Amino acid sequence: MRNTTRREILAEDTGSPYYELRKYPEPTVCSECGLVYHKGRWTNSLEVPAKANRELCPACKRIQDRNPGGVVYLNGSYLQTHREEILNAAKNQEKLARESRPLQRIMWIKPNGDGLEIATTNVHLARRIGESIHQAHKGELEIKYSEGDRFARIYWHRDDQPKPK
Ligand SMILES: [Zn+2]
Repeated sequence: MRNTTRREILAEDTGSPYYELRKYPEPTVCSECGLVYHKGRWTNSLEVPAKANRELCPACKRIQDRNPGGVVYLNGSYLQTHREEILNAAKNQEKLARESRPLQRIMWIKPNGDGLEIATTNVHLARRIGESIHQAHKGELEIKYSEGDRFARIYWHRDDQPKPK
């Protein structure tokens, strides 16, 4: 992976509507998912203040615009025989991420050719989904970053072993 400093990321990202560290008036409530922006972070652990500014959080904005931060492409005959386990691994990564980072979500899971496509609001979640599937189910994993590492396509592939004759 390219070694980008935090300062570079901040400088590059401030113009993006999905920028997760953008400043909002406090308190702001996401009109879609109800997260509260408090002390510079979107959090799900707060009561909703009565008089709050209303706006979409960066995750809901991506969902509305159908503009993912990362996409995982799963392929191969092994996927057909282990589909449930693999989808559970992906959903489990989302659950783990959301406990501390509520902006990291799966946006959609849909068929893509013979395989599956999982889109996420966040590049790190996409990578973690790919890595956890790779770790548990082997196969081949390839990660392609673009847009200065802010978007990634993750390719995972595994075919079933041919049965010995
Ligand atoms: Zn939201």
